[in-house]
Amino acid sequence: MPARSACWRCVPRPSSSPCSGSPWRRRWSTRAMPDDGLKQWLAAPSVWQLDAGEAPRQDTPLPRRVDLAVLGAGLGGLSAALHGLEAGCSVCVLEAQRVGAGASGRNSGFVVPAPSRQTPASLERLLGEAAGPFVRGLQEAGTRLLQGPGASAVQGWAQPWDGEVDPAAVVRLADDWRRLGVEARAADRDALQARIGTDRYAGGLCFERGGQIDPYAAAQGLAERVRQAGGSLVEGCPALTLRPRGEGYLIRTPQGDLLADRVLVAGNAYGREASATTRRAISPLALVLATFAGDVPGEPLPFSDNRKDIWFFRRLADGRLLTGCFALPGLDRRQCEALLGQRIRHLYGVEPGPLQHVWAGWVGLTLNALPRIESRDARLLHWSGCNGRGLALSSLMGRLLVERLLGGDGLGLPPAAPSPWQGMPLLGWLGRLAIALDRRQRHRGLPAPVVSLSAS
Ligand SMILES: Cc1cc2nc3c(=O)[nH]c(=O)nc-3n(C[C@H](O)[C@H](O)[C@H](O)COP(=O)(O)OP(=O)(O)OC[C@H]3O[C@@H](n4cnc5c(N)ncnc54)[C@H](O)[C@@H]3O)c2cc1C
Repeated sequence: MPARSACWRCVPRPSSSPCSGSPWRRRWSTRAMPDDGLKQWLAAPSVWQLDAGEAPRQDTPLPRRVDLAVLGAGLGGLSAALHGLEAGCSVCVLEAQRVGAGASGRNSGFVVPAPSRQTPASLERLLGEAAGPFVRGLQEAGTRLLQGPGASAVQGWAQPWDGEVDPAAVVRLADDWRRLGVEARAADRDALQARIGTDRYAGGLCFERGGQIDPYAAAQGLAERVRQAGGSLVEGCPALTLRPRGEGYLIRTPQGDLLADRVLVAGNAYGREASATTRRAISPLALVLATFAGDVPGEPLPFSDNRKDIWFFRRLADGRLLTGCFALPGLDRRQCEALLGQRIRHLYGVEPGPLQHVWAGWVGLTLNALPRIESRDARLLHWSGCNGRGLALSSLMGRLLVERLLGGDGLGLPPAAPSPWQGMPLLGWLGRLAIALDRRQRHRGLPAPVVSLSAS
């Protein structure tokens, strides 16, 4: 069969909805579907894809048999493939669209060496002795990204806290992260102002080994390394079905069948067809990103604050500002410009330049903000979930899970317990409700948003 033509310009959305199956589930899933404006943003190229232009397609024939097949060429799948190749396996990566077409080519590029919504204490409760190796692994994975293609000269990532801050609590938290091996420092208002360019936060943490990258360039760079190491990377080739066959799995694709001894399903929030399970296992929330013209002075650290309706900012290499917000129903371009412009005014005290480019992507939430691993048998692993901090996480998970498929323990991260909520978008709904309430509360004290007419 001929290769299906696919690129990030035409089909960036997974074809499967988060819930398919019973009419009850279908009804819930229909209501959770994005509205038309959001659909356009989900289909628009990211600023990275736009700036880079479409990578030339390298047509690779589908092998008939490999030791390891990886479904999905995001940072997770590509890191997994590289690890498999380094371990001496023959490897094939199947990508439904193009390299980086999923969240990996569409995100804000913040490299964060700590999982979201967890403190060192809560992480130790959940993971026990694996907590330290896990966060150190995240930090190492982040460092690899920060030294690879798409890296920026800015070193560090900050998490300021909105509202009242107990300085002693911040210092304790930084100490706890350092005890686990993560380089975190407490920062007061002045220190934060010097590093992130706004004095609106009374305190927070700076993670010295975090930073920012062009994530699409990072994915392209990894893909190149996979090819150079002898891996097959077949784009425009979705895995349609996955069935046990002999000692391994038979993967059906539009280009023919592939037999693999081991399979890693790395479709994450963009999982479709044979990888629809990875999307069903989490609650996908749409996050809208936007760039504003204008030159932000200095080299501020990228940052995300601690609220549910998170405020986050970074400066691109040419001075443009990148920010964004979770998509709530009815958000259109004018409202987006007004909402984000209001935040820029509030934080930096300057009038924002025109809104330039808007796009959106799916972020995969899990209940405990840790990745969900599912294992049907020793030859097949699925994982998903990023909770907005998936760059270092996907790179780490790809490596750990290949290690596990090859007989290691991959840090012994526990497989997810079956959950009655799995496949139901309830967590996503609750997430959107919490964000809406937080947004309303947070914007109540700010001057009214001004809708700029500078961009139509
Ligand atoms: C808007 C946005 C902003 C974000 N910002 C940040 C950030 O600043 N920092 C951070 O750390 N994280 C961030 N994240 C999260 C991060 O981008 C993701 O966690 C990470 O990129 C996921 O990588 P992945 O390889 O696991 O999945 P993806 O990059 O989504 O890759 C999955 C791939 O699998 C392919 N696929 C799916 N099904 C099949 C199939 N059946 N056969 C073959 N291929 C298939 C898809 O086409 C896709 O290319 C953000 C996410 C979004 C959406």
